[in-house]
This record gives sequence, C-alpha cells and structure tokens, in this order.
Amino acid sequence: MKSVFFPSLVLLMTVTIAFTQPIKIDFDALQETKPWLETEQWEPVPAVVTPGVYTSAPDDAIILFDGQDLNSWHKPKYGYGARMDEVESIVKWKLEHPENSAPEWTVKSGALIVKPGGGAIETNQAFGDCQLHIEWLAPEDPGKKDQGYSNSGVFLMGLYEIQILNSYENKTYANGQAGSMYKQHIPLVNASRPPGEWQSYDIVFMAPKFNNDGSLQSPATITAFHNGVLIQNHAILKGPCVYIGEPYYFAHPEKLPLLLQDHGDKVRFRNIWIREL
Ligand code: MG
Repeated sequence: MKSVFFPSLVLLMTVTIAFTQPIKIDFDALQETKPWLETEQWEPVPAVVTPGVYTSAPDDAIILFDGQDLNSWHKPKYGYGARMDEVESIVKWKLEHPENSAPEWTVKSGALIVKPGGGAIETNQAFGDCQLHIEWLAPEDPGKKDQGYSNSGVFLMGLYEIQILNSYENKTYANGQAGSMYKQHIPLVNASRPPGEWQSYDIVFMAPKFNNDGSLQSPATITAFHNGVLIQNHAILKGPCVYIGEPYYFAHPEKLPLLLQDHGDKVRFRNIWIREL
C-alpha cells in the first residue's frame, strides 16, 4: 500500500511545485539566438483591397463594450504566454488561482483605450464557440513601424490570437500582420484601413474539443472578416498562437475568457459584442 501511495504523493508534489508560478521567459537571455525569427513568414504578401462599412449588435448579442464602462472586464494577474510551456503554465495557474483585479485601460469618448504597460484585459465571462464583432483603431504615428505600429490582439479563449496591427502600408512578416492568426495563418487579403480610421473584425470561432483522456478530438477553427472582407476561411489552428516556437494542443476547459492584448500601443476599441454558438 505504502509503495503505491508514496510515488503518487511525490508526483502530486512535483506537479504542485511546477505550477506554483507560471514560467517567465527571460528575453534578455534569448537576444543572441532570437528564436522568434524562426517562425516569421514574410511571403506571400496578401493583396490589398479597399473595404466597406460596420455592423451594430443584433438583439441576442452579449454586449462586452458599448462605449460606457469596463464592467464586463477584469485584469488577469497573468495575461498570455509567448512560448507553449509558458502558455500552458499560465492557463493551469489561472484555473487554480483566479486572482483578478480592475482593468487599467481607459474609457474615453466612447472608446476603450489600451494603457501601455497596464496589462491585458479579459472578459469576466468565459466563452467557447462564438461569433464576435469588435471594432478597433490604430492611432496615427508615422514614427512607428513593423510590429511596433499599433500592435494589440484579440485572443479567443485567451489563447488563439487574431492579430491587431496597423497593416496599411506598414511592412511586417505576413503571418504577423493585421488579420493573421498570429504565426499560423496569413490573411487571405489585406483589407486594412489607414491608421486613425475605425476598422472591424467579424469572427466565427469554434473552440477545440478534447476527449476525456486529454487527447484532441477536433482543432480550433476560425472564419474572419476584416472590414467585411473575408480574411480567414475556416482556418484550422495548430494550437495556441505563440511568439516563439511551434504550437501544440493541450486539454483546457471548453470555455475561457476572451482577452485583449496590451502590446504597448494605445490601440482603441469600440462596439464589442459576442454571440455564443
Ligand atoms: Mg498582437
């Protein structure tokens, strides 16, 4: 009896210790090898198209932001991960330690504005399969370029990122431009408006499903429109969207909060609504 019990206890202690705190990547130590460059894809560059107009919420939608307040949101203690081991440890930590605080982003003139350094924000409610509408604006700043020009992101379930970036006449790697499923799927076209103008994403997201043993039953898929133009057509995801290395799936709950990224730029949001599917 004792010989069976003891290894189980050791295993339990090891798992508990391993997730006492999420992994924190030391980016200074990685400056020499820059492993994030390995997953940047610069070709093919999506064709440019000129987009149309916006959509207001239908009456069965859950309103996440209507220009008034951040009542539907909180600031998670840990946001999202840059590498799969970090991602996995953050999700496990969050499930065990639901420590959240008030979001630090600003609401001004009907818009929700990222507070650089203020951290990501997450919905109080968790979502899985959904239809999401979100409008965003990349502020004009000619001094910025590449991934540093109005970067944010919509992380479905806090894991699967559709990139927000000024991609109007701003070159970057194609699988990291606006409308990409970050480092996994290049958008079909570049439907970006110029910085300073409101833009929209309309998204149909199907969450991944897992078997009882934790194995993958079906991957996450996404169909997305940027300013009304189809940019992702039932794209199949390889796992969470990460900055460094290859993604893979790990079993997680069928619903998790929607997360918006603080990447240090004052990107604005408005008219955010969601319908559960
Ligand atoms: Mg981003």
